[in-house]
Amino acid sequence: MRIEAVELIETCIPLKKAYKLSKRYGYLKETKPVIVKINTDEGLLGYGETDPMGKFTGETPESVAVIIKNDLAPAILGKDPTNVGRITEIMEDVVRDNHMAKGTIDMACYDLLGKAAGMPLYRLLGGALYDDLPIMGSIGGGTIEETVEAAEKVRECKYHSIMVKVGGDPVHDGNRVLAVRDILGKEYPIILDANQGYDMAAALKFINIAKEADPVLYEQPIDAENIEGIAAIRRKCGVPISVDESLLSYRHAQEVIRLEAADVFSIKVCKNGGIKQSLAIIELARSKGIDILFNSMIEEGITQAASLNIALTVPNLYQYGHAYFSPLRLQEDITDYSTNIVDGRVRAPQAPGLGIKVLDDVLERYTIRRSIIQ
Ligand SMILES: [Mg+2]
Repeated sequence: MRIEAVELIETCIPLKKAYKLSKRYGYLKETKPVIVKINTDEGLLGYGETDPMGKFTGETPESVAVIIKNDLAPAILGKDPTNVGRITEIMEDVVRDNHMAKGTIDMACYDLLGKAAGMPLYRLLGGALYDDLPIMGSIGGGTIEETVEAAEKVRECKYHSIMVKVGGDPVHDGNRVLAVRDILGKEYPIILDANQGYDMAAALKFINIAKEADPVLYEQPIDAENIEGIAAIRRKCGVPISVDESLLSYRHAQEVIRLEAADVFSIKVCKNGGIKQSLAIIELARSKGIDILFNSMIEEGITQAASLNIALTVPNLYQYGHAYFSPLRLQEDITDYSTNIVDGRVRAPQAPGLGIKVLDDVLERYTIRRSIIQ
């Protein structure tokens, strides 16, 4: 099989409701997924998606598009996309870092590998350990009343845990978390995510209040680069810690492990540079007794399906649920992925490759630029 053309589709998709992530990121009203569609000489199509957010991931939708258009796509034309190892080597030779840009191509190649084999990708990755996975809901910042209302909606969706976005005023955030515990009752797992919003003092002040609510996890309390600081918070606060923004590449994973800064890794397949690199990070985590929370950027169904295909094969899965609801936050999903979500769980897809269908008419509605490299 040979790559005949790479289509680059830049999109802009509004959220159903503005989402406050933390002081650092403010309100998010739209997302700009970059989609890659690889056309092959055998007529099979492979899809990849990435969901960059400059302040979060370093790369932006525009930087990803330029790197794919000018550097990566021309280098892989005519090559066999099902030889993912070779494609990876070519991309590494062309440009350093740019994990999200490379991850988009990697995802499309794995999609083609599965389609060529006539199997869902998870089977090629070793086989599914689960039939379905529990979903973790997520709520943004706001007033106490807004927080309580959003938490009740998460429970109505039958999600198995809740991620509460904090990272604003530490006392107000602490009170919001206590209110969530009150409304959801004693047993409901509460995960906290500060999205780098605190400094060291605020991170500790917040968790000292929120600890009363018995949270099961505290994600990315402070700046991504301050891994020593995160390790210090982990030693002091008595709540398990996860890293998200601090964990972009394999090198970051090694650093977090060396400094004993985390109990859980938040994996996002696009943030982590695609399927191949995510698998490497996950295996490293497994060898160190670190569990994997499959988290999401504001993603559409292609990225979510790639993530799901990996998660189904992972033994060291975080027990309280994963962010597989992401496209439901957006005005529309450009794929049929969301049909896999039933009663707060996401089912293993059955179709070959990533196992989803891209809805061309929906994709067209949100496309802002389209380029073909051939
Ligand atoms: Mg996070």
